[in-house]
Amino acid sequence: MPLFDFVCTACRHPFEALVRGSAVPACPACGSTALERQLTLPAIKTSSTHGMAMAAAKRRDAAQGKEREHAQREYERNHDD
Ligand SMILES: [Zn+2]
Repeated sequence: MPLFDFVCTACRHPFEALVRGSAVPACPACGSTALERQLTLPAIKTSSTHGMAMAAAKRRDAAQGKEREHAQREYERNHDD
């Protein structure tokens, strides 16, 4: 089922609606069916960018963790004797 983003042209209320066939959704704020369908799919876009941001954060944390580990080992090696 396709999920579309709409903006109500009557009250400018943005909302998402599942559209089946030729069914026309109505604005949940004012009940108007005068809607603009948005071309972007923020639900998919935000989840994927969020996933990418999370992956980037994890990579950054892992890199920082390795860096700290390495520095600690260097310190221990240089101060062993
Ligand atoms: Zn409306």
